[in-house]
Amino acid sequence: MQVNAHATQKQGLKVHIQGVVQGVGFRPFVYNLAIAHHLTGWVRNTSQGVEIQANGDPKNLAAFLQAIQSQHPPLARIDHLASEAIEPTDHRSFTILTSQPQPGDFVPISPDISICEDCRRELFDPSDRRFRYPFINCTNCGPRFTIIQDIPYDRPLTTMANFPMCPDCQREYDDPANRRFHAQPVACPVCGPRLVFHSQNSKPMYQEDALQIARQWLKEGKILAVKGLGGFHLACDAANPQAVEELRRRKRRSQKPFAVMAFDLATIEKYCQVSTAERKLLSSPQHPLVLLDSRPDASLSSAIAPHQNTLGFLLPYTPLHFLLLEPSPGFPEVLVMTSGNLSEEPIAYEDEDALNRLSNLADGFLFHNRPIHIRTDDSVMRIFAGEPYFIRRSRGYAPDAIPLPRTTPPLLAVGAELKNTFCLARDRYGFLSHYIGDMENYETYRSFEEGIHHFEHLFHTQPRAIVCDLHPEYLATRYARQRAEQENLPLISIQHHHAHLTACLADNSWETDDPVIGLSFDGTGYGSDGAIWGGEILFGGYTGFERALHFKYVPLPGGDTSIRKPARMALAHLWAANLPWEPSLPPVQSLCAEEQSALKAQLEHRLNAPLTSSMGRLFDAVSALIGICQTATYEGQAAIEMEAVVDPDETGFYPLPLANGIIDPVGLLSALLQDYLAGISIPRLAARFHNSIARLALDACQTLRSTYGCHTVALSGGVWQNKVLLTKALQELKRAGFNVLIHRQLPPNDGCIAIGQVMAAIHQMK
Ligand code: ZN
Ligand code: ZN
Ligand code: FE
Repeated sequence: MQVNAHATQKQGLKVHIQGVVQGVGFRPFVYNLAIAHHLTGWVRNTSQGVEIQANGDPKNLAAFLQAIQSQHPPLARIDHLASEAIEPTDHRSFTILTSQPQPGDFVPISPDISICEDCRRELFDPSDRRFRYPFINCTNCGPRFTIIQDIPYDRPLTTMANFPMCPDCQREYDDPANRRFHAQPVACPVCGPRLVFHSQNSKPMYQEDALQIARQWLKEGKILAVKGLGGFHLACDAANPQAVEELRRRKRRSQKPFAVMAFDLATIEKYCQVSTAERKLLSSPQHPLVLLDSRPDASLSSAIAPHQNTLGFLLPYTPLHFLLLEPSPGFPEVLVMTSGNLSEEPIAYEDEDALNRLSNLADGFLFHNRPIHIRTDDSVMRIFAGEPYFIRRSRGYAPDAIPLPRTTPPLLAVGAELKNTFCLARDRYGFLSHYIGDMENYETYRSFEEGIHHFEHLFHTQPRAIVCDLHPEYLATRYARQRAEQENLPLISIQHHHAHLTACLADNSWETDDPVIGLSFDGTGYGSDGAIWGGEILFGGYTGFERALHFKYVPLPGGDTSIRKPARMALAHLWAANLPWEPSLPPVQSLCAEEQSALKAQLEHRLNAPLTSSMGRLFDAVSALIGICQTATYEGQAAIEMEAVVDPDETGFYPLPLANGIIDPVGLLSALLQDYLAGISIPRLAARFHNSIARLALDACQTLRSTYGCHTVALSGGVWQNKVLLTKALQELKRAGFNVLIHRQLPPNDGCIAIGQVMAAIHQMK
C-alpha cells in the first residue's frame, strides 16, 4: 500500500447501482466525476446496472459517492445504490471497461427520448458538421427502446449495427469529455442513416432533396407516410380541409380525432389554451401528445377533431420532425401526424410492410434506413388538476418499469382485449409494455406475441406463472392458456374490475392488504357471473373483492352492434326501464321501423342479448337519448361528445337510488326524458347526467363507509378518462372527507389492467 507524503491513506470503494443507468450517459458521468475527484479504477455496465471500482483519498471517495446520487444525468434514475469499502487496487488511471453480460440478470432499458436542446442547436447551426442532419442525437437524447435488439445496450446489439462510425464520429464516441461519448446511435451525414423519398411515379430522392420534395408535397395538400421513431405517421396540412377529409376517407376512420404537430409552443398557443403544466408536459423529454382545450376561434380544419373541444398536439420530437416542420412562407404551420395504419390495424414500422399497407393511404413515402426494431405509438396525455394524466402510455415511457409496492416472482400478465398492454414483472419491477392496441385482428395479435417474446428476452425473465382476464374468448386469454399449457405453468385469472382496482392501488404505491372502495367504471368486462360488468362498486384489495353495488342489468341487444350504435342502447335502456319509445326521441328517429321491431323482438325474447351493468353503455344511451350521438365510429365517441357540451354552470341532477346492492337508473332516465321533452337545452341535460353520476359515486361511498368504516376510494376504468366527471366526483368525495386514489402512472382505461393482474396474482402465487 502506497502512502503519499501529503495525503491520508488511499482507500478502495466498490459501488453497485441499479436503475435506468445504461444509454443515458451514466458511465461518462462517473468517469468525469472520478477524474474530478482524483480517483483511479474503473466503471462498467453489467446486465444488472453499473458497477464501479474506485480508489483514492477517503474524503474524495465520499464526495464522489455523494455526487453520483445528487448530480447524475437527467435521464438516469437510480433505484438502488450499494457501496462497500474494499482494499484499494493498483490502477493508475480511471477507465471505462467493456460491458459484462451475466445470464439471468436484467437491467432496465431507457425509453426513447426527444431531441435535446444541444442537438437542436447543432441541427440549425450552419457551422456544425451535422447541420440539417435528420438523425442527430447524443447521450442525452435519441432513439433507445425502439432500436435495441438485445442487452447490454451497445451499438452492435442495436439497429445501428449496420452503420460503422466514420473517424470523426468514432473520435466523439471514444472521448469521455464529449457529449457523444458512448452514445450508441451516434451518426453523421458521412456514416449514418439517410432519408429517401419514394413515390409511384418518380425515382427515389435522397437526403435534403428528399426532405424538400416531401415539404413541397405537404404544401400542395398531398398525404405522406413519414417514418419516425417508433413507426410511420400519415402527415398532411392540418389547415387544408380537402387534405384532411381525404386522409379521413382513405384511413376509413370517420370521426376519430387526428393528432397534430406544430413547430413550437407559440404556434400551438394560437390554436389552444396552454397552461404552465401543459407547456411543461409538451416539452418534457418524453414529448407525449397532450390533449388541450382548443380556442373557439381556432382555424384548423374542423375535420381534425369533429364535435370535440380539444385538440391533441405534439411538438417535434425528432430532428426529422423539426426539419419537416421548419417555418417558411406558405408552408403549413400545423401538420396532421396520425398513426400510419388503416383504422384498427397496428401502426406500420417496417419499410416493406409500410409500402404494402400504406400505399393506398399515402401519395408518397419519406423513409429512412435506420430500422425500427419495435413499434411504439405516441403516448397520449392530458393535464388533470395540474398533473399529468395518462390516456395512452407508450413512446417515451415504455419500457420504464412501474415500481410495484410488493415483491413478485417472475410473472407475465397478458392484459385485456382493448387498448392492450402486457406486463412482465419480477422483483419490484412491472415492465409494462408499449401500447399494443385493440386485439381484434391478426396483425395486432402478432405484435402482442412478438412484444412478449422481446420483453422476456430483453429483461432476461422467464415467467413462472401466466396471468389473464376471466374472459374465456379474449385473444390474450387464449394466448395465456396455450402458453401455460405448453410450458406447464400455473394460469391465474383475474376479474377485470378487480384488476382495475388493484392497478389503481399499485399506481398509488398502496402496500397493505387493507381493502378500499373501488369505483370501477368502464364499458366492458367479463363478470364472475358471466354477465358483462362495467358499473361496479367493489370493496376489496390485492387479496380479493366483494361486489358491493352494481348497476341494474339491462340487455345488450346484438352485443357489439349495440356498442357501435348508441341509439340501440338508448332504446334497450328505455325498454328495461319500462319507458315508451316516443317517436320524437332522437334514437327512435335514427332507427328505421324494421330495426326497431327487430330490436324489440331481441329484447323481448332475449335473443343474443347478454346482460350488462356497463357504465359506458349508460353514457352511450344518454348521449343518444338527448340527441348527441346515435352511431359511434370509435370507442367512447358518444361519451366524449357528450362531455364536450356539458354546461359548466348547471348544478341539477337526477336520482340514482341504491337498494339491495343494485343501482337502478329508471328514475334518472324518466326524469331525463321529461326534461328533454320539456325542451331543456342539451348542455344542461348533459351536465345534469354527469352531476348525477358524481352524486352516485358520493352516495355509494358514504353507504360503504358506514358499513365498513373505510374512507379510501380508488377510481379506475375508462369512464374516468372523462375529465368533467372526474373533476365533479373528486370534488364531492374530497368534500365528504374521502381519501381518493386516481391513476397517475397508468391510464385509467384497460391499458392499466396488466399491472392490476400482476398485483392480484402475487397473492394467489403464495
Ligand atoms: Zn442530444
Ligand atoms: Zn460519422
Ligand atoms: Fe376496463
